[in-house]
Amino acid sequence: MRHDAETGSEGSGCDDLLEVWIDQDLCTGDGICAQYAPEVFELDIDGLAYVKSGDDELLQAPGATTPVPLPLLRDVADSAKECPGDCIHVRRVSDRVEVYGPDAQ
Ligand code: SF4
Repeated sequence: MRHDAETGSEGSGCDDLLEVWIDQDLCTGDGICAQYAPEVFELDIDGLAYVKSGDDELLQAPGATTPVPLPLLRDVADSAKECPGDCIHVRRVSDRVEVYGPDAQ
């Protein structure tokens, strides 16, 4: 009955799995994102924020994405909204449309 729960497709039934990436070129290093969602964001020794894999590994390739765990969506969305560098991008996996961040509608 709850077959959609694991995919995060509850509610409207659309495929709205999300992923997030950071444009480090614009990151100010203030660490707001890491405060909001430390499971997803972390500052590296270079003073810039990076997303982390589910295994807690920093993903430092340019444009690297990590899935947004549904329970953390609010924190990740708030991070994107509050990010002083406007450099946190949250997008749908299915069509890569940005839903939170500077390029969101
Ligand atoms: S909130 Fe934005 S600018 Fe601040 S550390 Fe995170 S990604 Fe960088």
